[in-house]
Order: sequence, then C-alpha cells, then structure tokens
Amino acid sequence: MKFEDYSIAAEIKTSLAKLNYRRPTDIQFKSIPPILKGEDVLAIAQTGTGKTAAFAIPVINQLHMRKIKGRMDGIKCLVMVPTRELAIQIHQVFETIGKHTRVKSFCVFGGVEEAPQIARLEKGIDVLIATPGRMFDLASRGFIKLDRIEVLILDEADHMLDLGFIKDIRDIMTYLPKKKQTLFFSATINETIKKLAYSLVNNAIRIQVSPKDPVARNIDHFVTYVEMDDKRFFLERMVKENENSKILVFVRTKVRCERVQKAMGRVGLEAKSLHGGMEQEDRKKVLDLFRKGEVKVLIATDVSARGIDIPSVEFVVNYDLPELSENYVHRVGRTGRGREKGQAVTFCSTEEKEILAEIEGFLGKPIKRLEMDRDDYSQTIDFSAESHADWKSLMNEHEQSLLKRRKKKKK
Ligand code: AMP
Repeated sequence: MKFEDYSIAAEIKTSLAKLNYRRPTDIQFKSIPPILKGEDVLAIAQTGTGKTAAFAIPVINQLHMRKIKGRMDGIKCLVMVPTRELAIQIHQVFETIGKHTRVKSFCVFGGVEEAPQIARLEKGIDVLIATPGRMFDLASRGFIKLDRIEVLILDEADHMLDLGFIKDIRDIMTYLPKKKQTLFFSATINETIKKLAYSLVNNAIRIQVSPKDPVARNIDHFVTYVEMDDKRFFLERMVKENENSKILVFVRTKVRCERVQKAMGRVGLEAKSLHGGMEQEDRKKVLDLFRKGEVKVLIATDVSARGIDIPSVEFVVNYDLPELSENYVHRVGRTGRGREKGQAVTFCSTEEKEILAEIEGFLGKPIKRLEMDRDDYSQTIDFSAESHADWKSLMNEHEQSLLKRRKKKKK
C-alpha cells in the first residue's frame, strides 16, 4: 500500500512525497491505522525503522483535520523523549511532515536558557516534544499546561528508564487528563518496561518490528545443535560433502584453531590455521593458499580474519560461537560477498545456548534451526574416519586379546 492510498490529509501527502516516502515502513504500516482510530499502542521498534513518522503522520493528521481556530486552549499532544538530540530530531520530523498543515510543534529540553522556551510556549502550540526534567520544571511552575493533552507519546521508553527518568514520568502523569490516547515506544522490552507500559496504556494494540536484518539477504545462515566433543565429526562431514568448496571455519582461540586442524588431519583432510600467534609471513602464505583454492579449509580466529576479503567462500562454519554478538555478523559476512550466494552454519553446543540467545537478540530475530534427528546425528559420528580408526583399533585389540586367550588355553 502506498501513502497516496491512505486516508490522510492531502497536505501531509505532499510533504511525504517531497521526502520521497512512497510506502510505509513495517512499523508505519502497523501503527498508523490504530493510531488514527484513537487506540493505545505499545510498540517495540528500534531507531531506523521509521518509528518517528509512524506516530507523527497520524497525530498531525488528527490535529489538522479538527480545524480548530487558534490554539490558545493548550497543547494537544505531548511527546516525551530521553535526550535533547532526540527531541530536536523528532521536532524536525513534525515540522517537515506538518509543513503544509496548521499543526504547530515545539521542543523543550534542559541545559539551555528557559526564557525563549517560555516565550514560544505562550504563543500556543499543538505538539510539544520534551525531555522529562525540563518539562516537569516548566509544568510545575505553570508555563506548560498539560490539562488538554489528548495524545501522550513516550519514545525510547527503555532509554528514559536507563537515564533514571521514571519519577519524572510518573510526576508528569499527575498533570495529564485521565482520558487520553497513549502511544508507548521502546527499542527493547523487559519486566520493568512492561510494568511501566501497562500502567500507562489501556487495551493497547501491541506491535513489534525487527530492525533491518544486519545479515545480507544472499546469505543463508542456520544453527544446528552439536555437542562440543562431536563438532569435529560434523565439520569432517561438511568438508567431505562439499569437497570442492572453500570453507572458512571460525573458532574462539588459537589453541582451538590448532586442535581442529589436527582433528581434520587425523581423518585425512587438509586444513590450515590462521591466528594472531602466527608470523605475518606465515599468515600471508596461508591466506594465499586459501585464496587460490589450493587449501579448501581455513580455520581462523575472529581477529585474524577481520577485514580480509577472500572471494568465493561458499561456507562459513561457526565451529565455536563468537563471544561478541556483532562478530556473528562479521563472520557470516565472509561468505556471500557481492552478488554471490553464501551459506553459514553454526554448531551450537548445550553450553553455548546462552550466547546464541544473545546473538539472536542482537540480530533482532531467530536464526533458522537445522533439525537433525538422532540417527542422522549418530551416523555422522559413526561414519567419521576417526571413529573407523577407533573401531579398527578396537577390533584389533579384541582380536589380540582373543589370540592371547587361545594361546593361554593351549598351554
Ligand atoms: P526513524 O526510525 O524514525 O529514526 O527513521 C529512520 C529513517 O527512515 C529516517 O531517516 C527517515 O527519514 C526514514 N524514513 C521513515 N519513514 C520512511 C518511509 N516511509 N520511506 C522512506 N524512508 C523513511
């Protein structure tokens, strides 16, 4: 649906067209209709999702359509924000989108002289954007009248709580009429935020949007649950099933790097290590071999692989989960360069599940699971050349002991 098709004032559509906003973003698509209807909204949305226009468009529309002459009867919409920067930014959005309407907005924040703010407030405004401290100060001295507020917006509520504004928010509530529309926006949600939100909204429409996916679209990435001691068998299987592909394997430490390289060596697979403990010259040699495809498997630590561009890496394997969530994005971004398609798989053990949850929190959405049934899991281990070797040596041992026993009996 395009903005042209929305039943909002033509004056707003003109501004949206000038801004080159043709279609609503996800959060706008979900929140504009309920806000226009006068419903309370509880939205989990990060900066960058278009959340400012998601509330500015319907609020400006409702105020503009009322055709009230003069605005001496008081502020109609109050936007509470945590910082001065955000206050200025939101004010600009209201100014730009409301440019051709009769809606007037203004912003107040602390740390600057209050006289010019008071003078502007006295002229009358429809929308006030403010940080809680300065607003409470001006309201308690009668410079801001909040008894005509119809719409209350709390933006970045989580940030406001972090900055310790909870008491100011509660105090300001006492100045506001009981009956009003409340729109609550937060980038994250936890028990404290939920408590605050539910104490402010009434039968709210709940909306959640994910931030823009930080992992490129051409990368297919998934997680499979593999126990720590079994990971080498799964890597072996992957390498054998994709013998012509370049595979970049990430591990946590240089010791792990060498250990995995040895494990691959035991099953007859050539792999090279790349870590910070190596001489520059050796690192360069290894990288060249991998680049040319003379070595297909490279086992690397995060730091050593940062910033290097290796073309045509078909697979990235997160053999260990990264300790820093953003490294997940850096690692999987090593495949699928440019227009190529890439695949990334993460081996997650039971003890790494917490790290996985953190990464998914960072990405704003779950990573696909590659479910493996028990048979498939145990077959991967059974078919390993390493376990065959073990099995052979077990058989040998068994045969040897049988021989010994037979010899003893003969005696
Ligand atoms: P916000 O999340 O409100 O900080 O907005 C993030 C960015 O998205 C801003 O630069 C906006 O100008 C832009 N934006 C918001 N809505 C739209 C839209 N419908 N189409 C294109 N850009 C948009």
